[in-house]
Amino acid sequence: KYQGLDYDTVQKIKEAHVVPCIKSLNSKPLLINEAHMQWIYDHTGKRYLDMFAGIVTVSVGHCHPRVTEAAKSQLDKLLHCSNLFQHSTMYEYTKKLVKTLPPHLNVIYLVNSGSEANELAILLARLYTKKQDVIAFNSAYHGGTHLTQTLTALATYKYPRNNAPGIHHAMMPDVYRGIWGGARCRYSPIQTKRYCECPPNQCDATNKFYEQLVNAFQYNVPITGAAALIAESIQGVAGVKEFPRYFLRKAYEMIKSTDGLFISDEVQTGFGRTGDNFWGFEMHGVSPDIVTMAKGIANGLPMGAVATTTEIAQVLTKASHFNTFGGNPVSCAAASAVLDVIKDEELQANCKEVGTYLLTQLSKLRDQFEIVGDVRGKGLMIGVDLVQNKETRVPLNSRHMSHILDSCKDIGLILGRGGLSGNVIRIKPPMCVTMEDAKFTYDVLHHVLTKFQNKKL
Ligand code: PMP
Repeated sequence: KYQGLDYDTVQKIKEAHVVPCIKSLNSKPLLINEAHMQWIYDHTGKRYLDMFAGIVTVSVGHCHPRVTEAAKSQLDKLLHCSNLFQHSTMYEYTKKLVKTLPPHLNVIYLVNSGSEANELAILLARLYTKKQDVIAFNSAYHGGTHLTQTLTALATYKYPRNNAPGIHHAMMPDVYRGIWGGARCRYSPIQTKRYCECPPNQCDATNKFYEQLVNAFQYNVPITGAAALIAESIQGVAGVKEFPRYFLRKAYEMIKSTDGLFISDEVQTGFGRTGDNFWGFEMHGVSPDIVTMAKGIANGLPMGAVATTTEIAQVLTKASHFNTFGGNPVSCAAASAVLDVIKDEELQANCKEVGTYLLTQLSKLRDQFEIVGDVRGKGLMIGVDLVQNKETRVPLNSRHMSHILDSCKDIGLILGRGGLSGNVIRIKPPMCVTMEDAKFTYDVLHHVLTKFQNKKL
């Protein structure tokens, strides 16, 4: 039974007292009362299938009983935190997390968010290499602090102020909208099975995009080289943009050959979500020097982490680096339970199975509807790029996009939105979703797109 503030009161408080930058997914945003696994319930008791929670924080399912239990019992025992003291939960978790990573990444620094993790990663890279410049990709999202907002290259998340120094952007090899194409060369199972036959290093588009990266270095970075190249394994906020095959491997080899570090931002792609691998970087065949993670790491409790090598971590001993809430026992207990649940409930395999099925189904929409320009992604990280016209690929306008997402919501399906023009439907559910949920998602989208096409929306 709902006992909170009524809907209108919440809107009034929001208008009067809450920072106005928060954009809602829907024109009439949900007032959530409770959520369990893949389901959320609003203040009226209506149930929705949440196909977007994974982006926000929920990895293994809303209020997953094992995670809740772990956090609750830790809360009863000890909440005091600070890395001035020691508590076993943090060390147990650190050991568990290290086991999921390649052996050289054996040092962990626990923080509270993805932005903090990326800030720290850049600090480590700069101190270790004694260089300042960092290259990120266009349309990347790496955070909202000054430095990470500068790393981010999406105008929608930037404010008119000076950028943090030393950050440069290279062209994102956008294989759908970019000038050289290359969509056939993605890792996405639906694309590669159907089209891609390029042997390594022989995809023309990939090679041309790579030349742009070389240019970005040659024109912007001192001849002594850059401290780091940072990349998401699949760009999330950008609208699920996938690198063409072998591109990131080549980029990685390039930064390593100039004694720079490669930072993999796994905030969205980590923990088995992409299906084939536990970490997204594994699909690219690269071996990062630093990995950052956050979001679903503790299934909703605030947490972020940086993993690196013993040697790189040493640079932090030059001064003190302190983080009040980093590694707090409650987040660690929850994060530890998350790793257990992913393993015991075989959620990585579920991401692969349900994700590949959903991708395959959704790709049929591309053949059926003029406004479905592209369907892409891997595992349970999927993007459906809506366009005004398949030929021109002009993004669907914002009003139509809202119509579509609102109509899905009214039927009981929550979907996300992303991309520079906000025209990409993002599907990133809790990893526990089932085939039934995938079918429901396809059916609802099919129904709503049909209505839209017949001008009934
Ligand atoms: N990196 C990526 C890839 C992200 O998607 C985000 C959040 N959208 C961040 C970093 C920043 O994480 P946080 O919001 O926890 O600071």
